[in-house]
Amino acid sequence: MAKRLMNYVNGQWVDSAASECAPVINPGTGEHFADAPLSSPAEVDAAVRAAVAAFKEWRRVPAPDRIQFLFKLKELLEDNLDALARSCTEECGKTYRESVGELRRAIENVEVACGIPLLMQGRNNEDIARGIDEHMFRQPIGVAAMVAPFNFPAMIPFWFLPYALATGNCFIVKPSEKCPVTQQRVFELVDRLGLPPGVLQLVNGAKETVDALLDHPDIRAISMVGSTPAARAIYARAAANGKRAQCQGGAKNPVLIMPDADMETATRILADSAFGCAGQRCLALSSGITIGAARDPFRGCFGEATRARRVGYGLDEDAETGAVISAESKARIERLIGIAEAEGARPIVDGRGQTVPGYEGGHFIFPTLLDGVPPQGEIARTEIFGPVFSLMHADTLEEGIAMVNDRAYGNMACIFTASGAAARKFRNEVRAGNVGINIGVAAPMAFFPFSGWADSFFGDLHGQAEHAVEFFTETKVVVERWPQEWSRQF
Ligand code: NAD
Repeated sequence: MAKRLMNYVNGQWVDSAASECAPVINPGTGEHFADAPLSSPAEVDAAVRAAVAAFKEWRRVPAPDRIQFLFKLKELLEDNLDALARSCTEECGKTYRESVGELRRAIENVEVACGIPLLMQGRNNEDIARGIDEHMFRQPIGVAAMVAPFNFPAMIPFWFLPYALATGNCFIVKPSEKCPVTQQRVFELVDRLGLPPGVLQLVNGAKETVDALLDHPDIRAISMVGSTPAARAIYARAAANGKRAQCQGGAKNPVLIMPDADMETATRILADSAFGCAGQRCLALSSGITIGAARDPFRGCFGEATRARRVGYGLDEDAETGAVISAESKARIERLIGIAEAEGARPIVDGRGQTVPGYEGGHFIFPTLLDGVPPQGEIARTEIFGPVFSLMHADTLEEGIAMVNDRAYGNMACIFTASGAAARKFRNEVRAGNVGINIGVAAPMAFFPFSGWADSFFGDLHGQAEHAVEFFTETKVVVERWPQEWSRQF
């Protein structure tokens, strides 16, 4: 029987009053194993009220004391890494190895936020005028909330949560309704931290729950990661309600393959970028633009790698590519491959209509390689979010960069080359916030901001590192004068 998930509000596990739930389905088996209640605006309000009450004291806890909770959280995450990684795979379909990788990234953010006493320092000048000093302090903003996507159920809340907590805010997580189980497990660990009630809370739900967060007058800031239409809508609604917002959207990431690239290395790295996590990373490379003489050798090498990739259930040791999130997603990806064919693309490797023995109920699409995808067509511009790689061609580096820049998204762009000059030109001219040079997934470490651009990001301060510290604090500038003659003489 499917397990009904709970909310974590005011330091207690609470059963939501919602009668409606989102089913949580293991994408690798098709098993419906949990239900996420769709919490009501009243339940959101209860969490926000608890957070507002907690904030009064929490903001006064010294930063070196606040981070002690993060040291403890890191230890608990390390001790429970295996169970959390399994949970990720069970609800999201990726391989166990990929789930472990995602948890490492989550933990890395906890580690970075432990530096908050240094990271949130202000600055000051003595004697900005004779006898007058000026200081800038960073203070927490109050109550903040985050809305998560399905594809990194463990990691993505951690682009925000550790920084919000360490800077002295109270924080509410709304996990994806498709993959809410891992955050439930994370909050079982949060429950053991001994934090004051209301500082960290978990509220399950979908759009109506998010809207209640966006409309609540006591929430000061919203962090969101998800598809571009949702990111755009959430950003607009948060802004209309006077909130700070940072909303990371979808992607369609291109890579240029130069003729001087080492084709074997490029193929190995690019196959993992395109087909790892079943193509469901926002930093998956999905369009390959070969330059000049790179076309034939790369197509040959990459075709072989596409065919050789082992597809399987994420918890099976030899699986390299797991399932996609849902039957609906599988049908959508297959339909998009059909559109590519209608646009004139040729499937060199066609991953449709195959099953994994023993997992016939799973939502698997095998890696697919499309050649001759027209750059102006629908497939070259649509986020497929599945294990599908499109090949295109340009004669020169300039033409390739122009193709990279002629698109709505700006999450990541990569180049494979042996030429420093080509790499430097690409790095300088490309319209993308995360750039990889001989790298297939240019995911910024926790001590750099995750820097999507264009339709991949709405806002100005990104998740992680100093951007997160700025996002979760507001600056207060104090100008002060203490004339000697007002003081008692000692
Ligand atoms: P999604 O947009 O369907 O949902 C994301 C979250 O937003 C969920 O919690 C959902 O409940 C909520 N939501 C969805 N529509 C909403 C609406 N109209 N109003 C209010 N809330 C709404 O995304 P998903 O399918 O869960 O995740 C996949 C997408 O996320 C892909 O497009 C992927 O590229 C993107 N993504 C981006 C990044 C990044 O850093 N830019 C990282 C991971 C995933």
